[in-house]
Amino acid sequence: MSFDYDLVVIGAGSGGVRAARMAATYGAKVAVVEEFRVGGTCVIRGCVPKKLYVYASRFSDQFDIAESFGWNVEARFDWPTLVAAKEKEITRLEHAYTSNLEKPGVEIIRDRAVITGPNSVRLVQGDRELTSKYLLVATGARPSIPDIPGAEFGITSNVAFDLPSLPKSILIEGGGYIAVEFATIFAGLGVDTTIVYRGNCILRGFDEDMKRGLEAGLTERGVRVIYQTTIASLAKPGDDVMVTFSDGVSAPYGAVMFATGRRPNTDGLGLETAGVELAGNGAIPVDKYSQTSVPSVYAVGDVTGRAQLTPVAIREGWYFAETVFNNNPQVVDHSLIPTAVFSEPEIGVIGLTEEEAATHGDIDVYVARFRPMQNTLSTRTERMVLKLITEKNGGRVLGVHILGPSAAEMIQLVAVAMGMNATKADFDRAIALHPSAAEELVTFKAPSYSYRDCKKV
Ligand code: NDP
Repeated sequence: MSFDYDLVVIGAGSGGVRAARMAATYGAKVAVVEEFRVGGTCVIRGCVPKKLYVYASRFSDQFDIAESFGWNVEARFDWPTLVAAKEKEITRLEHAYTSNLEKPGVEIIRDRAVITGPNSVRLVQGDRELTSKYLLVATGARPSIPDIPGAEFGITSNVAFDLPSLPKSILIEGGGYIAVEFATIFAGLGVDTTIVYRGNCILRGFDEDMKRGLEAGLTERGVRVIYQTTIASLAKPGDDVMVTFSDGVSAPYGAVMFATGRRPNTDGLGLETAGVELAGNGAIPVDKYSQTSVPSVYAVGDVTGRAQLTPVAIREGWYFAETVFNNNPQVVDHSLIPTAVFSEPEIGVIGLTEEEAATHGDIDVYVARFRPMQNTLSTRTERMVLKLITEKNGGRVLGVHILGPSAAEMIQLVAVAMGMNATKADFDRAIALHPSAAEELVTFKAPSYSYRDCKKV
């Protein structure tokens, strides 16, 4: 049977673009269908603009301590300048992604695709059908908003980067990555910022020292955190959004943002027509080769509900192309993924948390807490935390958790060592680089404490 294409990719985000490029490089005839902008969430309204805005927000910390280094700074912030500069940069990246697709011969179709069968999609605007030997669903995820009265008066990260002006105050619901990163951004830019979270400490699932350290850091930067509470309803009687909380308290905010998780983009995609099974949360279950329940349909990235992280989607897209178009089956290892939270202070983590590791066997925990050197000339008391968790008596490193400046940069390199099954002795063999914060990771002498039979000793 002949098809129009070897591969039709739905979605030009991180995973889809990598898969399309690689498949085309291996000689496949490939089309990518994208209804929005090339680059996906990461480039257009996620990681990239987020990090640019985090940089913008961090100047306030720098201005705070500048005087202790002899600088006298008079600073004023202009939001439209930042928005315009961000737009220029993501447009540049969008063009780079587009030409990276076009170079190996990928056809980019600006339209919405709906799956009509195991080997076909319909273009909604173009009103024509494409057939393809394989389909790859890489449609990502979108913000999930609680079903409450007045939810339409809240915003999400999709629009937060492009607000016409900075609100005087903002309430952010959620305790995950997006909530704490945007709280960092808005607070750093001078917005009166509050987080409301249904749990009892932000960043559920992270190591306790990271959670409590970030909580303290956010509080020090003026962010209020309300726990065990949710937003019950929103109204907009005037310029402000009136929030009623689950405990009955009401208060006005300049803006309200939902950072309450992201839902796979599978609604209305026609997956059922092709017979593709879906999980209860809308995600597409796949096997280790990213193949769905229908052999000609694959899926990568956030839409599969594995790890909602750009580099993971990229790796899944790449390995899909290796497997299907290069006769080289490759399986993504999801077991050891470094991750960072670009909050203030920053967090970088990999491996097991102390709580998890303690249930896996006997472990030693090494913890360093100290003022980052940049703060020592100032009155800032905030501490950096580096935590190394190993099997007992200097065995394999099981987890590393860093809170403080450059945590993300450090954890990326720790990932190399941990991927090689590094032990405490391997870390110790490295000669320290002085003065740096990372040197603490290779100069730990005795454990700070240990766990034996799940008990802290
Ligand atoms: P997360 O899953 O990290 O956090 C969602 C938060 O919303 C949780 O605190 C959750 O509470 C809360 N929540 C969920 N549903 C409700 C509800 N109905 N009412 C009230 N609160 C609710 O999602 P994010 O949206 O922050 O981010 C999505 C994903 O994107 C992340 O998991 C991450 O994988 C990725 N990401 C990564 C970044 C990075 O690498 N730096 C940056 C941004 C996003 P609870 O804890 O109780 O479940």
